[in-house]
Amino acid sequence: PEFYDCIENAHRSLSTDVWAFGTTLWQIFSFGSQPTIPDVINIKEGYFGDVYKGLIEADSSSGQQLVAVKKLRKASPDFQNEISIMQMLKHPNIVEVKAVIREPEINLVMEFVKHGSLICYISIHKEKLDPKKHFLKYALDIAEGMKYLGEKKIVHRDLAARNVLVANEFHVKISDFGLAQFTDHNDYYIDNTCRELPFKWHAPESLALGKFSSQSDVWSYGVTLYEMFSFGKEPNIECEGCDRDPTTLLNELKKGTRLPYPPNCSIFVSGTSRRTFDYFLAPISRLGVRPYPRSPTQA
Ligand code: ADP
Ligand code: MG
Repeated sequence: PEFYDCIENAHRSLSTDVWAFGTTLWQIFSFGSQPTIPDVINIKEGYFGDVYKGLIEADSSSGQQLVAVKKLRKASPDFQNEISIMQMLKHPNIVEVKAVIREPEINLVMEFVKHGSLICYISIHKEKLDPKKHFLKYALDIAEGMKYLGEKKIVHRDLAARNVLVANEFHVKISDFGLAQFTDHNDYYIDNTCRELPFKWHAPESLALGKFSSQSDVWSYGVTLYEMFSFGKEPNIECEGCDRDPTTLLNELKKGTRLPYPPNCSIFVSGTSRRTFDYFLAPISRLGVRPYPRSPTQA
């Protein structure tokens, strides 16, 4: 099925024949077993853990419900933090926790968000997606969810199209609170650890000082919009080494270099049409998110 074809970046080169090739290899290496998919399917292998698709039954009267289960493969102190933060949240644009299983090992049980990550959804449904109709609604959904997080004094720190899940064609939800933290009395959080972070989505003050706030989440929101309006492009600014090294990227950002203007979104997103602005962008700008600046070609 198409949903499972899409594993992060690998999906772009996967053709149905390659999928079948995988199944054939599976048959050979399992000495001729039938390629039957088990009840629990691994949706995604992560660095610390995996996400599985499963079924839960709260009681015999309510029937079965599809869920996504995140479990750890390697010990990570952050997992309990991720769970505690998610358990506090209830919002239509944030993935809901259904249960937490603690024995024999810790599992986070979430509502199953049918269409998977936004980055995969865009690559699969490129042809039918209309920026004006779909992307502006997704942008509004993400902004509503992020506004709620800000009110709870939580910074997400990993907002990206891969961490936004698609419930249906017109409804998305923020997920993956693996890096989320509470802010302090100054409304920011300082990361002193030396771990690897998704730096291409990070604001200059996060790259320079490890400082994260609702404002730095707004920067990541901008990068997420770039991914969306460029139909899933990697957010790379034009500069040697910026995609590999945070310090090089920071120096380039300090010079004023920014992500290129995504083609084809200017009319809808720069506010040239009054009607478009009133309908779509006014609610977003009320949330404190400025519309994208005009493209140089429009100026
Ligand atoms: P990681 O910390 O490994 O990045 P994520 O929480 O981002 O883990 O989940 C990885 C992937 O698993 C997502 O991109 C998505 O494809 C899938 N996934 C995660 N949670 C759900 C969910 N609730 N419903 C459906 N798919 C999910
Ligand atoms: Mg993720």
